[in-house]
Amino acid sequence: MKRKCNLCNSTMNIVFEKDMYNIGKAKFNLVKCLNCKLIFVDPLPNSTQRKEMYSKDYFETNKLSGTREKGYMEDQEYYEQDFKNILRIVKKYKRNGRFLDIGCAAGYFLNLARKYGYQVHGVEISKFASEFARKKFKLDVFNGELENAKFKDNFFDIVVAANVLEHVEDPNKFLLEIKRILKPNGILVIDIPTYVNSPYYKIVKLISGMFKKDKDVAKMFKVNQEKMPYHLYEFSPRNLKMMLKKLGFKLLETKADVPYPEVIFSKKGFKYRLIQLHFIILNMLARTLNIKFNHMVAYFKK
Ligand SMILES: [Zn+2]
Repeated sequence: MKRKCNLCNSTMNIVFEKDMYNIGKAKFNLVKCLNCKLIFVDPLPNSTQRKEMYSKDYFETNKLSGTREKGYMEDQEYYEQDFKNILRIVKKYKRNGRFLDIGCAAGYFLNLARKYGYQVHGVEISKFASEFARKKFKLDVFNGELENAKFKDNFFDIVVAANVLEHVEDPNKFLLEIKRILKPNGILVIDIPTYVNSPYYKIVKLISGMFKKDKDVAKMFKVNQEKMPYHLYEFSPRNLKMMLKKLGFKLLETKADVPYPEVIFSKKGFKYRLIQLHFIILNMLARTLNIKFNHMVAYFKK
């Protein structure tokens, strides 16, 4: 039976990318809902497969899907720059209050938010990362799924889900839980990749052929390697707005950018310069015209 769409409940979908991902020999397609156009993984990885995906290695060696040279745990400064940009916007809407980061990983964002004057809490599914956050930054981090943290109703002023919504099995249920724990007029920040829905994705697929022999770059473009289905959903900006609107959230603003892949920016030679230029131009267009080529941050109000 076909998987039901998490946004509109339709079971009418078509294959968007056949065998997009694999875990060992198990293959996973990306399918597209014919009704609302939401793109998602089919079938869903089972619990054993998910455990394999989110081992300690995910944080130590995943290196942001191959775009960064350092592992996540050694790369605090890089991530802090993005977090500062988000906190500047959050400050416009809420100057202080209770701040929750769902999927807080090593706690870099929470550590920074505390310096900006918020009372911070975290939820993190990785035992390894949550222990790191507690030890290194003395943060209050719940290790497990959001639903199991059992926060009180209307508890938080700000909830952040950065690079999380595309990973959860049931985004609709997940957002309902956020709605329950967020105060009326509370702010929800969703940081999410948008590239599969963008024309940019087609360009990347074209370029990737040029780099088949360069191991680092091939890894970034996910050529000839194991590709686990970390992203269970590929939201377009429109799909994200639709889902949040259905749940009663109001969109405040969105910001787009194209992060620079370090594996390409650290290299010399004409071929790399060409690709670097491509990223610089895309990022400029994304930032000035707010075009969602690759990645966006959306701010909502409950
Ligand atoms: Zn749908």
